[in-house]
Amino acid sequence: RTKASGRGGYQFFDPAADVRLQALADLKLSLRDALARDEFHLVYQPVIDAVQGTVSSFEALIRWQHPERGLVSPADFIPLAEETGWIIAIGGWVLREACKQAATWPEGISVAVNFSAVQFEGRNMEAEIGSALKDSGLAPGRLVIELTETILLQDDDAKNKALRALRGLGVRIAMDDFGTGYSSLGYLRRFPFDTIKIDQSLVRGLPDGAGGDAIVYAVISLAHSLGISVTAEGVETPAQFELLRQQGASHVQGYLFSRPVQASEIPSLLTRRFAESGDSQT
Ligand code: C2E
Ligand code: MG
Ligand code: MG
Ligand code: MG
Repeated sequence: RTKASGRGGYQFFDPAADVRLQALADLKLSLRDALARDEFHLVYQPVIDAVQGTVSSFEALIRWQHPERGLVSPADFIPLAEETGWIIAIGGWVLREACKQAATWPEGISVAVNFSAVQFEGRNMEAEIGSALKDSGLAPGRLVIELTETILLQDDDAKNKALRALRGLGVRIAMDDFGTGYSSLGYLRRFPFDTIKIDQSLVRGLPDGAGGDAIVYAVISLAHSLGISVTAEGVETPAQFELLRQQGASHVQGYLFSRPVQASEIPSLLTRRFAESGDSQT
């Protein structure tokens, strides 16, 4: 493509911005066919019971193996998939794949699936999730739906109804990335969450012996008093783990325990015990 040439007297041409736009357009083009070309796969990151030190569930995380660019981060393509609406097909694939995979695990082990707000807009997620459960044979109580608070920004009543319908199926609902963006403590009371996941941005600074510790502690106490369980995300150091455990986080997740792994590595993770000091063997 020739750049400035076709644009006559345009004076504020910014080549760097143009290159970025072109790269984005290219990515979008290849994303359109990625599902049909079977370029997605899931990896799974364990969520650890903070008291027992054992794996209690796995979070499914999508990966895109692009034919030329290699692995593309979901942070780069999920927003594109949302903007184009392709997230509906992609998210449907993730759900079915994760349920199918989880149905092969021991019965006490659950799977968490991330959903975009777009997937709920004007669509019957209850039917879609119900059919994924039925087809895979996975018990509803073994599926956790992870949502960010963006889903709650508008349409309180409709969204609330949709979430309650999901809970009616028997699936559990987690609020992801709590403590970022527009997270509000009020959401915890208004919506039927089973779990909140404290975002890694809050965990990263721990222990700081100051405000950060106090905020995390307040969130954990509030969640507990509402009967909501707490998973801390992005735990990378033994000191963070120790603090979170002392403060009552029931579950932890992060590189300290394990990075996301291929499905084939799950059986060996299930036999592991993650000691108080964490475990950096993986
Ligand atoms: P998330 O759901 O909050 O997932 C946690 C992210 O943090 C994952 O990044 C995970 O690999 C990373 N992580 C886990 N432990 C640590 C740690 O100790 N340190 C650090 N620095 N990072 C850690 P990932 O897989 O790149 O996913 C990024 C985001 O993309 C996810 O954030 C989620 O919002 C979105 N995403 C991933 N898979 C899907 C999907 O299937 N559907 C949708 N709608 N979104 C997805
Ligand atoms: Mg998540
Ligand atoms: Mg998160
Ligand atoms: Mg996130």
